[in-house]
Amino acid sequence: MKSQLEVEDITVMFGGQRALSGVSLKAERGHVTGLIGPNGAGKSTLFDVISGLRKPATGKVFLGGLDVTRAGPSRRAKHGLARTFQRLELFGRLSVRDNLLVAAELGSQRRKAGSVADDIIDRLGLGLVATTTADSLSTGMGRLVEVARAMAVNPTTLLLDEPAAGQDREETERFSLILRSLAEEGMAVLLVEHDMELVMNVCDQVYVLDLGKIISVGPPELIRRDDAVLAAYLGG
Ligand code: ADP
Ligand code: MG
Repeated sequence: MKSQLEVEDITVMFGGQRALSGVSLKAERGHVTGLIGPNGAGKSTLFDVISGLRKPATGKVFLGGLDVTRAGPSRRAKHGLARTFQRLELFGRLSVRDNLLVAAELGSQRRKAGSVADDIIDRLGLGLVATTTADSLSTGMGRLVEVARAMAVNPTTLLLDEPAAGQDREETERFSLILRSLAEEGMAVLLVEHDMELVMNVCDQVYVLDLGKIISVGPPELIRRDDAVLAAYLGG
């Protein structure tokens, strides 16, 4: 049986440049899977391929065992995929709660949108900013609200692109508990993150991307000691 998310042999070209080269990975329900690598490695491009925003030159994407390679973003969302963006994509003039309501209404729980939004506000500790407009949030808080909005559509597969950037230690620690609990409830979480402590604390499995190729994969305690990984980060 296939994992919740599988990508096989993905290649992406930008002009003559290969941004991704034969990339394969899996993310299981119940696990937080990490995707790390230096800036420009191709992490966000892979998220664009998985969410259907960019067509790969080669390769396939499977969601819940179904080949969605030819499906657009909205069909993938219907198959349980949600993502956040490295740049914030919130509705700036809407309140935090209204941003969540819009998302919850897209999800399967239209009639319960209000209670879905309020539960997530509670769970992520967003009560104090629930009526604040999104464009007046700090970066760290904005990222948390992005995660909240992705959660509101009740996804099975959740892609997070640097969600902890701009969060302080305390926010990050609370966030790591939330990630673990989402996985425990049965979600497949794929996490792109530069905060190594967060990655090492929450991930079951970590893929390392460098120059568009997976150079290493394994549990965090092995990845942190991998020579190829250290060389990639040190610019070797
Ligand atoms: P990461 O998220 O790992 O920092 P990206 O996926 O953003 O990396 O970028 C991977 C490579 O592809 C980089 O060399 C980047 O400059 C290039 N790239 C990303 N988006 C585009 C684009 N729209 N057009 C041309 N090149 C791009
Ligand atoms: Mg990126």
